[in-house]
Amino acid sequence: MGRWVGVDVGGTKVLAGLVADTGELLRSVRRSTPGRLVSAEVVEDTIVSAVTEVAGGEPVTAVGLAAAGFVDGSGGRVVFAPHLPWRGEDVRSRLSTRLDARVVLDNDATCAAHAEATYGAGRGMSSLLLVTLGTGIGGGLVLDGRVWRGDQGMAGEFGHMQVVPDGAPCECGRRGCWEQYSSGSALVRYARARLGTDPTVLTELCEGDPERLTGPMVTAAAEDGDLVARGAFTSVGRWLGVGLANLVAAFDPALIVVGGGVSVAGDRLLEPAREALGRSLVGAEHREVPPLVPAALGPEAGLIGAAALAMAARGGSVDPG
Ligand code: BGC
Ligand code: ZN
Repeated sequence: MGRWVGVDVGGTKVLAGLVADTGELLRSVRRSTPGRLVSAEVVEDTIVSAVTEVAGGEPVTAVGLAAAGFVDGSGGRVVFAPHLPWRGEDVRSRLSTRLDARVVLDNDATCAAHAEATYGAGRGMSSLLLVTLGTGIGGGLVLDGRVWRGDQGMAGEFGHMQVVPDGAPCECGRRGCWEQYSSGSALVRYARARLGTDPTVLTELCEGDPERLTGPMVTAAAEDGDLVARGAFTSVGRWLGVGLANLVAAFDPALIVVGGGVSVAGDRLLEPAREALGRSLVGAEHREVPPLVPAALGPEAGLIGAAALAMAARGGSVDPG
């Protein structure tokens, strides 16, 4: 039995988990991400403290790091991370030294795709397309049974496909990116824009301060029937379906898996997405539209996948199945 730790480092939270050889999550700890305006070291301090706590101070066999950013082909550096301070940082070796453990580094959504293909919704399928909806949109692809990383390791940056020319500014520095219309941030932005004008319980939840509004507040309000919050999910869901239609046209996957924090809303998000996918997909009347399902491993898919990649790297193989 190894002691594997997976860490998902996102724009909002750092989630570390102790994972068994079978992929089962034994326990996890959560920290807030210090933000993107701090130094890389501060983010790394958070990772070290989360890993140390989840490992209970005991040595670990290896650590898998699922980073919300562009990871280079060798899995050593985070080249760019729109929501984090990493810019060309040698994250793997720095954390390996600080944690005194072997570290395997990959993109967060690629890790989630690997986990869903190995243990989750895509088990036994030859292809899947995964998107995670959190601070941004993450993308992962399994094609012909293999995780697809692209030429430079940066495939699957679907969140930054431009869907609205000159649209909303994105943290990547460009405008009109898909993740500005379909993510946790988009959910919050939709609701914020209606706080002063529409009656909504969200005004109370954020104590009248739009800056305090969070995705989980919108999710809770939608559960309670709040119309603004429900409208936010319909909007984010429709944009999700439109973007997925383009990706299905490009890759023809057997299955689409939706993970990330926003996906805990289930059909409230997925139903408008399925409708928009069916309407927008070219040739939908002449083909099967792939099933759109929630991540079986939930928002923990990324950290489980990172731990699984750390296990697989023992034998040099990182493919599911
Ligand atoms: C980043 C991706 C990441 C995704 C989800 C995007 O903004 O560019 O690398 O996978 O957010 O965290
Ligand atoms: Zn962008």
